[in-house]
Amino acid sequence: MNSDRYAALSATEMADLLASRAITPTELAEAALARIAETDGAIHAFLHVDADGALRQAHEADERIDRGECRSRLDGIPVALKDNISTRDQPTTCGSRILEGYLPPYDATVTRRLHAAGAVIVGKTNLDEFAMGSSTEFSAFGPTRNPRDVSRVPGGSSGGSGAAVASGQVPIAFGSDTGGSVRLPASFCGVVGLKPTYGRVSRYGLVAYGSSLDQIGPLARTVEDCATALTAIAGHDPHDATTLPGPVPTFERASESRLDGLRIGVPREYFGEGIDAGVAASIERSIDRLHRLGASIHDVSLPHTRYALAAYYVIAPAEASANLARYDGVKYGLSQRGGRDLWTMVSESRAAGFGPEVLRRIMIGTYALSSGYYDAYYVKAQKVRSLVRADFDTVFESVDLLATPTCPTVAFRFGERTSDPYSMYLADVLTVTLNCAGLPGLVVPADEVDRLPVGLQLIGPALGEPLLFRVADALERMA
Ligand code: GLN
Repeated sequence: MNSDRYAALSATEMADLLASRAITPTELAEAALARIAETDGAIHAFLHVDADGALRQAHEADERIDRGECRSRLDGIPVALKDNISTRDQPTTCGSRILEGYLPPYDATVTRRLHAAGAVIVGKTNLDEFAMGSSTEFSAFGPTRNPRDVSRVPGGSSGGSGAAVASGQVPIAFGSDTGGSVRLPASFCGVVGLKPTYGRVSRYGLVAYGSSLDQIGPLARTVEDCATALTAIAGHDPHDATTLPGPVPTFERASESRLDGLRIGVPREYFGEGIDAGVAASIERSIDRLHRLGASIHDVSLPHTRYALAAYYVIAPAEASANLARYDGVKYGLSQRGGRDLWTMVSESRAAGFGPEVLRRIMIGTYALSSGYYDAYYVKAQKVRSLVRADFDTVFESVDLLATPTCPTVAFRFGERTSDPYSMYLADVLTVTLNCAGLPGLVVPADEVDRLPVGLQLIGPALGEPLLFRVADALERMA
């Protein structure tokens, strides 16, 4: 299949072609590999491409489909995984030198579920080291470039997944979102991205960053593909005690796309100081479209929004400093064994293996958790987190969902923010609130600004994913 034709197909269209036997999974896998070979020199979305594995999985899908045993709508569809989602015997580096050469002995639950659905995993995508960052510039293996403008970042930390989808390498890729890492790349690359409700998707085998915040989510070019991807990975998992029990609703495309009776809140704090005027205007035009589809629009307030970023940048590093203690040069990856004793080995391995942003987070987190500072920083941040969550509880008593920008700006240029950590953190000011509250957020392309994508963020109450998909689908059809 020709590469441009492959790149233009959604996963849903591919599944229809597979069902009618117009193409085979092997043809799709070959097209994916060819597309990656052609485009990845300029984009660098992938850290590892597993060509042999992809062709083997595709061949198995060929045989299943020949026997009439198609497993799901993802059977035979090429997908990619962020390189912090464990894949058995396949590299999982987290974009870090400290995990160079590490081959996990097991699959993450998400990986296992994708295999069970028949998806063809073609490789692992680039990320900021240990998912800490907003641009992929903190990957130890070089940044990913934004397919829409290669002089700009794709967003982070799941920038490789965003770029892989936007450049037509795969129709669906998975990322992780601790403070915005699925939604920011979706916004910057002009694709759809979902951060599911905390507990909707298993984190077993996702390399932990901030365990009370982390969630795996899909990126895709259409709302329907994003929903199909969520259906494949969601649900209770005995290996992750934070996963929610109960059935996972499947998303059905409504025949009717009106939104009459739906109440949409527009939180004024998300349009305040620092929000680029072009971005705000683009989002307001999307909100106007929602209104024209029949929804009523309400001005609402989430008064603690302004404190959320500060609280997040205490809680996330605190959890990271504990989670990253396991990289000691003994169990995984890089090891500096030339030293005098055990402690020299541990400290030299960590100093050589972690990049500067990860070291900064470990230091901030350790400081915030240390005796004497614990109450002043960590406990206080947790109190702020409760207030942020309570704001959402209150507002969802009077509206069904919220519509906001995803980021104050469009994709920025390389190097613009790397020298000032705070300016990088500010890219997350509109996304971290949801992780603090555990709520789902779906980003869909809005109008462009200066030919660069802008993402509309739809925020729902816990387990509100079906509603988010319905509203986003209606908007997509209108476009
Ligand atoms: N940019 C945020 C951080 O660095 C969020 C990252 C993420 O969601 N993984 O912590």
